[in-house]
Amino acid sequence: MPYDGRFAGDPLNVLSGVFGHAGFRGRQEEVVRHVAEGGSGLVLMPTGGGKSLCYQVPALCRPGIGVVVSPLIALMEDQVAALRQQGVAAAALHSDLPEGEGRAILRDLHDGSLKLLYVSPERLVLEGMLNRLEGLPVALFAVDEAHCVSQWGHHFRPEYRGLGVLSERFPRTPRLALTATADPRTVEDIRAQLGLQDDPVFRGGFDRPNIRIEAAPRESERSQLRALLKEHAGQPGAGIVYCGTRARTEQTAEWLRADGHDALAFHAGMDAAAKREAHRRFARGDAVVMCATIAFGMGIDRPDVRWVAHLDLPRSPESWYQEIGRAGRDGLPARALLLYGAGDIALARHRIEDSPAGPEQKRIERQRLDAMVAIAEAATCRRRLLLRCFGEDAPTETCGNCDVCLAPPRLFDGTVAAQKLLSAVLRTGRRFGVAHVVDVLRGRMTEKVAQFAHDRLPTFGVGKDLPDTAWRSVARQLVARGALDVAVENHGELVPTDAARPILKGEEKVLLREEASRPATPRGRAMAGAPAASGDPLFERLRDWRRAEAQAQAVPAYVIFQDRTLAEIAAARPRTLDQLAAIPGVGATKLQRYGAAVLKALAD
Ligand code: ADP
Ligand code: ZN
Repeated sequence: MPYDGRFAGDPLNVLSGVFGHAGFRGRQEEVVRHVAEGGSGLVLMPTGGGKSLCYQVPALCRPGIGVVVSPLIALMEDQVAALRQQGVAAAALHSDLPEGEGRAILRDLHDGSLKLLYVSPERLVLEGMLNRLEGLPVALFAVDEAHCVSQWGHHFRPEYRGLGVLSERFPRTPRLALTATADPRTVEDIRAQLGLQDDPVFRGGFDRPNIRIEAAPRESERSQLRALLKEHAGQPGAGIVYCGTRARTEQTAEWLRADGHDALAFHAGMDAAAKREAHRRFARGDAVVMCATIAFGMGIDRPDVRWVAHLDLPRSPESWYQEIGRAGRDGLPARALLLYGAGDIALARHRIEDSPAGPEQKRIERQRLDAMVAIAEAATCRRRLLLRCFGEDAPTETCGNCDVCLAPPRLFDGTVAAQKLLSAVLRTGRRFGVAHVVDVLRGRMTEKVAQFAHDRLPTFGVGKDLPDTAWRSVARQLVARGALDVAVENHGELVPTDAARPILKGEEKVLLREEASRPATPRGRAMAGAPAASGDPLFERLRDWRRAEAQAQAVPAYVIFQDRTLAEIAAARPRTLDQLAAIPGVGATKLQRYGAAVLKALAD
């Protein structure tokens, strides 16, 4: 049943009638009205901020077809499946389509029976395609993941460059670019490339208060990850583990599978078919754990990613923010856990120095890394530090939903500890890694200590007052502040830098964070605030029904109804179609299609 224009014209009617939402969020309404009236512009909103509606609603309000450029086939297909569920005639045109299907879509395009067409950038800019569109009423062009147009960012896609032609060929048609990247240079680049210099930029708030942010030194990666998984055991929703290397994605997926999890690996070295299959399984499965490099990013549309863990330090707050933003798009509580070590920090610094980039680029990369390290090592609210990277001031000193706010670390004067560690490094000849240096400090008579006669050093045993973990933490914090370097390309030996001198001379005070042996998270709060956790029999029954329905239609479960909607239905227990229609997420088409089945499932 194609969308018949019943609600056309008024954005609010379209929003509630077609999508079943009670109201717009943030700046959505402003954008929607601007575009519905024929304006162009750029939308900067965090992942999960609700960018899709910014072009979907105006496309339905305006006459003609909405053309959406999207970089990833899997993403297009899921969006199309979701729109069809809502009764909107939508299709995706890309290179992977069987001949006949492509032709059928073009026929529908000319009939005027399509309302939204998703198309890959290379397909759109073909002369034949542009000519076709010129002969048709086009409601708008939307360029999703618009940062792909910029060489400046990390996701440049050459096919996106050709999109500049849209402003020349369709000067009177609204063009809306959308991205979650807020980096000022990328933003200017997008505007220049897409001819949007004179159009407004809509910047949505970047805070994602439902994501709990945590960071911890990587002590034992597996047990730290196991603890996180345990808190989510038996709950619906997926998780993502970001790893620094391809090999690590595969190793991690392997031990997680051995632990009994449905874990997959994803990285850029896999062939196209394997990547598509991984995307598909991630979208369709329930409690899937995806172990991936940052190549796994675009096209993750799942609203119920419950947690994102990083096993290695991300290169900038921007990329970390994008990656953790994939959690909790449904607005329910979600978690972001960052694990990192001194070696990560040193390695990232060396990579920047050794890269062929120019001095200006290196300076910027260094700043980004330092900002990331500051967040990882923070003694004050991490969310506040993160938001500041996007030019946003957090409304309060403490967010109440990061590990620092929930359990503030104690600071202590670590000047003497830092001096002891630095002199142990110097006296052992800058040739040893942290393990041996700690042995010397603790006064342990190991083989290595005997071999090098380090028990005769004056620093031997001066650190008996602190446990090993505390010493490792002192070393890491000295690396973080740049007083120590780690020779990651060699054997990880510690090397003091110039910044160590004032500390050794007692000219600089060193405040250190006490690494309390507290659990990374307060227990039992993982899903606090969720309208219904798994275990509620009504919610489970609705999920069973949804699973069967999704399987029968071969679509992801969440395009039928999201967890959040099912939870609200379970809580409200509607007995009539009218009562059901009042629940957010239940639009007209879904009511008609599934209303009776949902009521029956509730009554059974
Ligand atoms: P983005 O593309 O910005 O990452 P989406 O457009 O996928 O985000 O939206 C994220 C989630 O928020 C989706 O599950 C969507 O249904 C929901 N959402 C967006 N706008 C609204 C709204 N006005 N009311 C209720 N839910 C919304
Ligand atoms: Zn906080």
